[in-house]
Amino acid sequence: MTDNDQLSGLRTEIRDWLAHNLPADWRDRQGGDNTAGFLAMQREWFTKLVEGGYATPHWPKEWPGGGRSLAEQIVMFEELARGGAPRMSLFFVSLYHAAMTLIECGTDAQRARHLPAILKGEVWCQGFSEPGAGSDLAALRTRAERRGDRYIVSGQKIWSTLGHFADQCLLLVRTDSSGAKQAGITFLLMDMKSKGIDVRPIRQITGDEEFAEIFLDEVEIPVENLVGQENEGWKVAQVTLSSERGLTLVELTERMALSLWRLVDAATQGTGDTGMLDRSVARSLVDISARIEAMRAMLATLMANRMAGREAVGDASILKLAYSRLSRDFTALGLRLQSFAAMRDTRYVLGAGYETGNWMFDFLNSYQYNIAGGSNEIQRNIVSERVLQMPREKLG
Ligand SMILES: Cc1cc2nc3c(=O)[nH]c(=O)nc-3n(C[C@H](O)[C@H](O)[C@H](O)COP(=O)(O)OP(=O)(O)OC[C@H]3O[C@@H](n4cnc5c(N)ncnc54)[C@H](O)[C@@H]3O)c2cc1C
Repeated sequence: MTDNDQLSGLRTEIRDWLAHNLPADWRDRQGGDNTAGFLAMQREWFTKLVEGGYATPHWPKEWPGGGRSLAEQIVMFEELARGGAPRMSLFFVSLYHAAMTLIECGTDAQRARHLPAILKGEVWCQGFSEPGAGSDLAALRTRAERRGDRYIVSGQKIWSTLGHFADQCLLLVRTDSSGAKQAGITFLLMDMKSKGIDVRPIRQITGDEEFAEIFLDEVEIPVENLVGQENEGWKVAQVTLSSERGLTLVELTERMALSLWRLVDAATQGTGDTGMLDRSVARSLVDISARIEAMRAMLATLMANRMAGREAVGDASILKLAYSRLSRDFTALGLRLQSFAAMRDTRYVLGAGYETGNWMFDFLNSYQYNIAGGSNEIQRNIVSERVLQMPREKLG
């Protein structure tokens, strides 16, 4: 995909805006295990993005900043990443998963209540996965029973990103077990302050607490919080799951490219002269650099095909597989170059994406891409069955 004049103009506009608005000290303020600093910095940056019109390019044009094409959205993600701006970690589920679900499937009352609140900083989480329902999401068992004008919900959710900071939750529940698994699922909006909710953060191998478990004990949810029809929540969930349209990979690849140059600088002590490096190190840097460029090119093709409505089956799966491998190899190289210093270093910047300043953190964190967005094994199943036309897997 190449830029036209309008897209080039947008790039210039964002660079100018960043030059005036990006807080130079955001890494310090958001850093370490300083959760309060992370939340405050995220809120401050989010407010600036909303005011600048860069938080909601994917919303309809009636909304401030809305009505941008996918090409413009890609440019925004690229430029914010290249400019070294913080990721919108705290608000991503709100702006994409929640807002797009409400815009496409919600009632007028739900949109009127939540979309303005999201712009003011309402934080959402997604309560889909359960201990026995991840790859096979339709196996979910959290029960909801309708009693008058309420649903009474009991069960357990897990891996809800930022669930411990959330004000609201996109919740999938089972309202009927009699037919096909997908048929008895209902989509509800749950206020996280409701009685009967117990949220427990999950500490990961990185030391960070990015996810939460959510235990639900007879939680009352008003029927007006039903999205779509009862027992037809599976269709609504597909809208939620497709809401970010690959923009995360575009953003992360740009952040990786930026971080590569930091790595080269560190390895060459700021000279940029790779000739002074050990040959195997120089070769590894060049190899990773070529793979990042290949990833950029493949993403550009995927996005162009997506915009033209001619995305081939399996393309997104192939890219996701390549990205997860690249992320692991890239961070492993950073770790290798930093050697023991990386192992002693316990600092990191929450929500930074390859700019944490801590290669050990980034390396451990890179394993999430084997699972997030559909595990690698599931992607391989898609490629083998739908692209290579191999026999379908036999379960049980
Ligand atoms: C970064 C990140 C953010 C997330 N955020 C959220 C969130 O906000 N809300 C939420 O609800 N969930 C979230 N999740 C959870 C995510 O959706 C699940 O982890 C994912 O669906 C996998 O489910 P599981 O963990 O139960 O693993 P399982 O499905 O139990 O899989 C375990 C292993 O078995 C393999 N496997 C499973 N089925 C097959 C098969 N048919 N063929 C071959 N291999 C198979 C898998 O590949 C995996 O290696 C997040 C996960 C990550 C990593």
